[in-house]
Amino acid sequence: MNKPSRYILFVLLVLIGLGVNAQDLPQGYFRNPMDHDIGLSATFAEFRANHFHGGLDMRTGGAIGKPVYAAADGYVAKVSISPWGGGKILYIKHPNGYTTVYMHLDSYVGEIGKAVLKEQYVQQAYGITKLFAPNELPVKKGQLVARSGNTGGSGGPHLHFEIRSGGLEDLHTHSRTYNPLLFGIPYTDRIDPTIRGIRIYPLGGKPVELGKESTISVPTEFFLGIYATDAAEGSTLRNGPHRVEVYVDNQLAFMYSTDAFPVDSTRMVNALIDYRHYIDTRQAYLLTRALPGAEGEWIPIRQGDGVFRFEQGSKHKFQVRVYDIKDNLAERTFTVSVDYEKSYCPVATGTTVKYDAPISIQQPTFIVQMSPFTLYGDDILEVRDKEEAPYSTPLVTVRPSFNDIPPDKAYTLRIKPKATLGVDPSKVVVALVGAKKLSAYKTSFADGWYAAQVRDFGQFTLAVDTVAPTVIPLNFGNKPLKGNTLKIKIGDNLAGIETFNCYLNGQWILGEYDGKSATVTISASGKLRSGKNELRVEVTDSSGNSSRQQWTVIK
Ligand SMILES: [Zn+2]
Repeated sequence: MNKPSRYILFVLLVLIGLGVNAQDLPQGYFRNPMDHDIGLSATFAEFRANHFHGGLDMRTGGAIGKPVYAAADGYVAKVSISPWGGGKILYIKHPNGYTTVYMHLDSYVGEIGKAVLKEQYVQQAYGITKLFAPNELPVKKGQLVARSGNTGGSGGPHLHFEIRSGGLEDLHTHSRTYNPLLFGIPYTDRIDPTIRGIRIYPLGGKPVELGKESTISVPTEFFLGIYATDAAEGSTLRNGPHRVEVYVDNQLAFMYSTDAFPVDSTRMVNALIDYRHYIDTRQAYLLTRALPGAEGEWIPIRQGDGVFRFEQGSKHKFQVRVYDIKDNLAERTFTVSVDYEKSYCPVATGTTVKYDAPISIQQPTFIVQMSPFTLYGDDILEVRDKEEAPYSTPLVTVRPSFNDIPPDKAYTLRIKPKATLGVDPSKVVVALVGAKKLSAYKTSFADGWYAAQVRDFGQFTLAVDTVAPTVIPLNFGNKPLKGNTLKIKIGDNLAGIETFNCYLNGQWILGEYDGKSATVTISASGKLRSGKNELRVEVTDSSGNSSRQQWTVIK
């Protein structure tokens, strides 16, 4: 089946298809934003659930507070702060059109810090987004602009660093992110990557792991999954590799590398990897197979649809080559023998759907409506309500039979309870049923239906949320306060915290909210009176339940 002519065409595609050339990017313009050699705890475009990793995770020796420098001349164009995601983020726009982005910061330095604090008091909020004009906060290459930290969804102290082009207005619009290591910033890596697993995926059958054998039986139609990791000097972690190639009978048949991607397409990573296996094991197997709805400029270069099709009884040589960014190489060679018994094909029941057409399924207790391109390929959609649910309300399953990948974009799910719930409809949420807990969606109510925009597949139900958030003081109470920092734990059972406000002696005071530890930290230096102080905290959840608590703090 592998006719040479098809490969010639394909090799031409490889030559013209590479998106980013390092020579086209400004070399030496940007400096290392830290003052020690780059050690990475995550590489660019590493596979994650729902996104490619958008930059480099630079190690900071396990510490917070390391100096962060402007990578080049420019100006602070934007600051964004959130208890989640990137935490405290700084955007510096440069005259060459690129923007450098610094995430999970502990603090902003000098005039930047003053401007941010002022804005937080103007908006009376910890989480802010603020754009600055070019003349407000100019910076020079190498200027100290921030201290590294662990804010937002960070799993440990580090600096997340990006180089982007395009718009700033929204983190996820009209913006492309590039591998910062392509801009000539010094980086050493002499350690080869490691191929940790290769899987054969028969079409419609269960995958088979390639072990130590040199020959493996395969069916006439299959695709490959490849799991590889990379380590480097000062970084022994399992980072993502830079490029993966598959050769069949010494001809290049598949190549994958991502040097840049549009930030708003990042979710398509789910369709490039074995998503379900990744969720279960955290091992990201890159699949050679293409899904028609997962097309983008960064997609792998493949022959056809990335499925290998061979004649029964034939044998073929496969070589898998994995490179890191310094072209250190890991290689695995094996032979496929096309003599595999016909694979068992599971029978799917449900509604046959086309990925490029609108989908609408209506039953007495639920309505599912998807716009075209919500799925990545044609499928059989399992959509049903389980009557014997442990809940007094419907338990609605929405799940594709073949490609168990979350939807590319949100779809509308409406659920109608079988009997009136007897509670204020504003306290009812559509929720995803997880293994341990429910996750609520923002829910609206009209004509007896509860509606939500959901971006998951699985089981959904209705839940009642009448419980107010919890507010617990951590380091003050009856005893006099030591120091000037007040710490409070806040939490919510279901819908999640929407707003929080702290008032010291009647005045709004900034509380820094860290989502992962559910802790609010108030630095009250210079604002505490000696003797009695009054602290009031007000927290509201997304269902409108609120807590208001007050303490006397003795200093
Ligand atoms: Zn990161």
